[in-house]
Amino acid sequence: QDMPVTGPAKRRLGVMGGTFDPVHHGHLVAASEVAAKYHLDEVVFVPTGQPWQKSHRNVSPAEDRYLMTVIATASNPQFSVSRIDIDRGGRTYTIDTLRDLRDRNPEADLFFITGADALSQILGWRDAPELFSLAHFIGVTRPGHVLSDPGLPDGGVSLIEVPALAISSTDCRARVAAGEPVWYLVPDGVVRYIDKRGLYRDAG
Ligand code: ATP
Ligand code: MG
Repeated sequence: QDMPVTGPAKRRLGVMGGTFDPVHHGHLVAASEVAAKYHLDEVVFVPTGQPWQKSHRNVSPAEDRYLMTVIATASNPQFSVSRIDIDRGGRTYTIDTLRDLRDRNPEADLFFITGADALSQILGWRDAPELFSLAHFIGVTRPGHVLSDPGLPDGGVSLIEVPALAISSTDCRARVAAGEPVWYLVPDGVVRYIDKRGLYRDAG
């Protein structure tokens, strides 16, 4: 039997972290674009854990955010959802997400996908230097935010333009609270789930 000349190509695993309260088409388009442009084998969506201290607003229960993310991604064979941040509990730090994913996928190269707004805060993140040794960072354009390289280590970050969808979870929540539609901003199944569970009816 012939031996391969080189080892198998490393699996390319995208990581899309977020609160996903609710997940919307801006998240899905960003993940899809990065998957295509970077030839990713899979993108795993990772909903954040439940903050234990009351923050500036009440984040919806982790199980609701998790299920909406599952509903939104179920039809795409390249997309999956991980419970690692939810099951760890407490506030989510991206360094913990990446360490855990690296431990569970030692054979994979990790690509952390982040919108322009989150990327601009990146240097303030806990353990910023180690972050860039764990994953390649891919910053995507987002309407209303400037996409710029916040002075990251050489080659640690790539910036790409994705179709502009001026959608935010904050706006979706406000719309539901005001009795306005979120059809076509979030996947149909997510509209139904929000309604079924009565999410976002009281502005929070
Ligand atoms: P919220 O308004 O509650 O902060 P959000 O819409 O910003 O919600 P998050 O869950 O905070 O959604 O975002 C997860 C990731 O997706 C972040 O990296 C964010 O920058 C990115 N993202 C969110 N919306 C868009 C969008 N419309 N286009 C591109 N990237 C986006
Ligand atoms: Mg946000």
